[in-house]
Amino acid sequence: MIDTTNQLHAHDKHSPFWQNAYLYFDRAYTTMHLDETWRTVLSTPKRVLTVSCPIRMDDGRIQVFTGYRAQHNNARGPFKGGLRFHPSVGLDEVMALAMLQTWKNALVDLPFGGAKGGVVCSPHKLSITEKERLTRRYTAEILPLIGPDHDIPAPDVGTDSQVMAWLLDTYSMMVGHQSLSVVTGKPVSIGGSPGREEATGRGVICVLRKFLATQNKSLEDLRVAIQGFGNVGYHTARLLDELNATIIALSSKEGGIYNENGIDITSAQRYYHENGSLADFPDAEPIPNDELLTCDCDVLVPAAMENTIDETIAPHVEAHTIVEAANGPITPKADEILRENGVTILPDILANAGGVTVSYFEWVQGLQNYFWSLNQVQNELQKVMDRAFDAVNAKADESDCDYRTAAYTIAISRVAEASRLKGLFP
Ligand code: GLU
Repeated sequence: MIDTTNQLHAHDKHSPFWQNAYLYFDRAYTTMHLDETWRTVLSTPKRVLTVSCPIRMDDGRIQVFTGYRAQHNNARGPFKGGLRFHPSVGLDEVMALAMLQTWKNALVDLPFGGAKGGVVCSPHKLSITEKERLTRRYTAEILPLIGPDHDIPAPDVGTDSQVMAWLLDTYSMMVGHQSLSVVTGKPVSIGGSPGREEATGRGVICVLRKFLATQNKSLEDLRVAIQGFGNVGYHTARLLDELNATIIALSSKEGGIYNENGIDITSAQRYYHENGSLADFPDAEPIPNDELLTCDCDVLVPAAMENTIDETIAPHVEAHTIVEAANGPITPKADEILRENGVTILPDILANAGGVTVSYFEWVQGLQNYFWSLNQVQNELQKVMDRAFDAVNAKADESDCDYRTAAYTIAISRVAEASRLKGLFP
């Protein structure tokens, strides 16, 4: 018998992040008729670490930042997942995101388990030197957990290729040799993969395209609203624009913009870069964030943070399709309402798996010291995403269920199979 009382669950029983991630797992697991005793093993994080990072700020003060790394499950391979710099980061959030990452990596059939890290900070309020010191100290603190065969961080909300370069350098200095594959999402000039930066957005497009094909529809003339204009939101918008979809609404943290005739993404990106916000962007009207989510469009792409579509927003969503470019943007209650209303949801663990897929390619390239062309990366990414969509689509047809349940069923059964075959240690 496996003891099902555990501290990690008890600790975070009431956290909305953890609870929502757990509910999605539990909902699928219940339909799978698997051995009950594995339910807790599969849903419990294997290891979580909390660290404090004292940093000397530019003005001479010392400030202590809290950081986390949660490693959820490594039955299928080393832990893998992003590192987030954001003021709302918490233990429960990284635990939830690490679990999502386990399912995501399994669904696209990567030889990785799932992890996630975070540091509680406002990256935009740190100077570049403060951010560097914070990254290096955090890396040193989590050093015993990471490594190319152990746990491989990557960019997430608030981090980028520069942060990954500092992480790589700190790790390499401390182990005494260059270790390219300890991190992915590095700059291309120091062993990063071409195509990694746009990979999540490109994956979103692959999945949306495949889904539209099942409906005999195409991207052309599709009216799309996108919440979030960070790495994922921007590249999704840019690629959609290039493929002749019409982006009618777009938002960043500070608010959104709307133009029913379409927003020019190149100009919006330039404006955002120069002004740090989309507010007052010419050729568009301002739109509050919740109105963006409920505006009259064909496809809604939440590409910002978790839980942005809850049960208060869900009944008013007008889109027929939602593509979860962010991790966990729809709460389980909202998910139920949307499904009842006939909205198709392309779930995060499928739709935004392009990023970690190209991270896998980068990891492989780093291990072999043999580097691929952009063309090769894009072709391989397309193959992985197409295969994953086809598997989810077939499962949804066969079991007459929604895409999220189908995706979770495939992912959980792969992790369960690996765990069962390996057995328990000792
Ligand atoms: N942070 C990304 C995600 O949520 C990428 C993780 C990775 O590349 O390891 O999937």
